[in-house]
Amino acid sequence: MINIKNLTKTYGSFKAVDNLSFHINKGEIVGLLGPNGAGKTTTMKIITCFMPATEGEVKIAGLDVKKDPLKIRQLIGYLPENAPLYPELNVLEYLGYIAGIRKIPFFERKDAIEKVIRLCGLENKKRSEIYELSKGYKQRVGLAQVLIHDPEILVLDEPTNGLDPNQIIEIRELIKKIGKKKTVILSSHILSEVEATSDRVLIINNGKIVASGTPGELREQSTNSGKSIVHLQVEGSPKSLVVAKMEKLKGVKKVSAKQGEKRGILAVKIESEGGLDLRKPLVHHVIKNKFELLEMTREEVSLEDVFIKLTKK
Ligand code: ATP
Repeated sequence: MINIKNLTKTYGSFKAVDNLSFHINKGEIVGLLGPNGAGKTTTMKIITCFMPATEGEVKIAGLDVKKDPLKIRQLIGYLPENAPLYPELNVLEYLGYIAGIRKIPFFERKDAIEKVIRLCGLENKKRSEIYELSKGYKQRVGLAQVLIHDPEILVLDEPTNGLDPNQIIEIRELIKKIGKKKTVILSSHILSEVEATSDRVLIINNGKIVASGTPGELREQSTNSGKSIVHLQVEGSPKSLVVAKMEKLKGVKKVSAKQGEKRGILAVKIESEGGLDLRKPLVHHVIKNKFELLEMTREEVSLEDVFIKLTKK
């Protein structure tokens, strides 16, 4: 649905987007994740035909942004960061105005407006003036506005930025609901944001994609390239013996042990190299050595760790 090949955008001599290539399938919700200045907004502006690329190819539903910008704009609903709304209009008036700009035939406008009002949960606010709405409701109006011409694709730039935690949850839910029928690309510099809403994440840094995959795949990739840690709770065996035996297991890099929560219980930390998952061999090893195993857990790499590792300068 969105096909980007070798996209580059320079501002003067500065490369904001650097040879970016990715593909988004119909129906996917994809999160563009990156720190401030990574090039997310620039990429979105090019996809939505608000800005020309310096080099590369961008195709939306098979159409080229250079040749068919008007057709592409019809296919896309774009919610820029801090989208401007007309504060003195009420929600119905504002959406009526947008329906006019979007050239929705006059006799279809009422239905189109009612539909997005329902979808975005604005029934109780439709006669409220926009200036009196909370930020969360303003963002609902922003979403209603981009949905009014029933576009196939939504491009949402930092859609929950500046909202309070409750409003964030509400808008995320709304995006997920809308995303069931649309292709969505959204940007964020907050990890939990893309993790909560997206099927797939593209991590972008200095204008380049540094990783892509589902949140689970990204964790896995990071684990495999680094060390893996397993924690054991062992009862009734001397520390020196446990450490010595565990160090003998193939793939183990480092073993440390300390007194656990209760007397007689050891908390053992076992590190392996190359992301090797040692849980199975550890179980066999523990049984073979007749240790009393109370608990085994593998330390999860958080997506936060992946993000920091990939985007730190
Ligand atoms: P943020 O989360 O802060 O919005 P972003 O990932 O969306 O960041 P962009 O807004 O695409 O990043 O900006 C990428 C880089 O390009 C930044 O270093 C920014 O300062 C620079 N930049 C953006 N727009 C312009 C412009 N019009 N002229 C010059 N430089 C620009």
